[in-house]
Amino acid sequence: MSESIGNSGKGTKLHTKILLGLLIGAVVGIAANQLLGGDHAAVVWVNKYLAGPVGQIFLRMLFMIVIPLVFASITLGVAGLGDLGKAGRVGGKAIAYFFASTALSATLGLIIVAAVRPGESLDPAIRESLLQQYAGDASSRVEAAATSTFGIGTIVNIVTRNPVKSAVDLDLLGIIFFALMFGAALTQIRADRAKPMIGFLEALNDVVIKIVGFAMRLAPYGVAGLIFGVTSAFGFHLLKPLAAYVLVVIGALLLHVLINLSAILRFLVGISPMLFFKRIRSALVTAFSTSSSSGTLPTALAVAEQNLGIPPQIAGFVLPLGSTMCMNGTALFEGITVIFLCQVFGVDLTMGQMVVVMIMAVITAIGAAGVPGGSIPLLVGILTMFGVPGEGIAIVLGVDRILDMSRTTVNVWGDLTATAFVAKSEGLWNASMVPAVEGLDRGASDESPGWPPPMQRP
Ligand code: ASP
Repeated sequence: MSESIGNSGKGTKLHTKILLGLLIGAVVGIAANQLLGGDHAAVVWVNKYLAGPVGQIFLRMLFMIVIPLVFASITLGVAGLGDLGKAGRVGGKAIAYFFASTALSATLGLIIVAAVRPGESLDPAIRESLLQQYAGDASSRVEAAATSTFGIGTIVNIVTRNPVKSAVDLDLLGIIFFALMFGAALTQIRADRAKPMIGFLEALNDVVIKIVGFAMRLAPYGVAGLIFGVTSAFGFHLLKPLAAYVLVVIGALLLHVLINLSAILRFLVGISPMLFFKRIRSALVTAFSTSSSSGTLPTALAVAEQNLGIPPQIAGFVLPLGSTMCMNGTALFEGITVIFLCQVFGVDLTMGQMVVVMIMAVITAIGAAGVPGGSIPLLVGILTMFGVPGEGIAIVLGVDRILDMSRTTVNVWGDLTATAFVAKSEGLWNASMVPAVEGLDRGASDESPGWPPPMQRP
């Protein structure tokens, strides 16, 4: 059997090509930055006419299908679960898991940043120069923060007034709510009436998954282009003064994966974390290069269903919710950044305030959009709560892209772990159902049907 994303079926395996693209893009980008400088005419030209467009086309291919994919997969998920009660139970379980795992990651981040105290070693002169350099960018983020506070309005807004507008604005929560209602209603009407609609949505879903296949064939080049864009323009000189902070964030993200997520996978899901990692690699690389959980959703759904064998009605239901609500990496990053900036500005927090930071990091991570920098406006909101000027975000903006790539990867890792957890606890899936995938665990076979494989629906 060879059902996989990451296996192009001929020659070098697709996931190997994607990793190669990542590596080549990064190495060439860093070399260009170091040898020529990010604003050298040749580097600018390559970014404008080659790397940039290729990366953008890949990203747009993914974003193009997010809305139909979320609508079809959630509706079919609810219809597949059979009734609203069951969908409510699965949804409730998923959301409880999102909260618990996000609280776990935020707490880990807080413990590490409180122990290492990277903010205390930042030279005040560097602080001032960073504040000035990124002041413009920061003030637009501070303005955005004013309109994106989390409150009762956020909950009311989930009930979309106009699903078409939600689709246009890429408001995933609005679309998810509409799809939930649509799927629930489908289970309540006469079966002979529901049948053609379900058939239509299944076909839509298959078509969209086919387009993910097209996009993934472009992935090696798109990923290389996106990474070249980041590394060639990246101010590596910024890394030095902020090294302690960047290392704390990346180290804590790694620990969350190695300790928390691995323990959940091994003990609660019953699957080897290494096997899990191998099966979801294509989604992780996509998350890393796009910095967007929403943009990674098509790939994440494909790996969950094809490489892990998770039933579509669970994956199609939990993953879209997770891609906007379950952000382990973002909460951890937010917690660390708030404490880091408090240390930089000499704001001392009590234990009680630390707990408030943790709670706010979890709530805002759940409210953040799964797009590049989606959490920054909300983060600015938390900073002001603790007396750190919102403009203080300027200090970390210069290195945010690298942190965004890393936290988004952990967000997607967390979403897929959540999906496996829910599928296992519902008794619909277990590790023995992970299909053997040629090209992922063994050599690629010439008889491989290529990508995408036919969808299996229950
Ligand atoms: N880029 C992140 C994501 O899409 C959100 C964020 O933390 O800014 O998951």
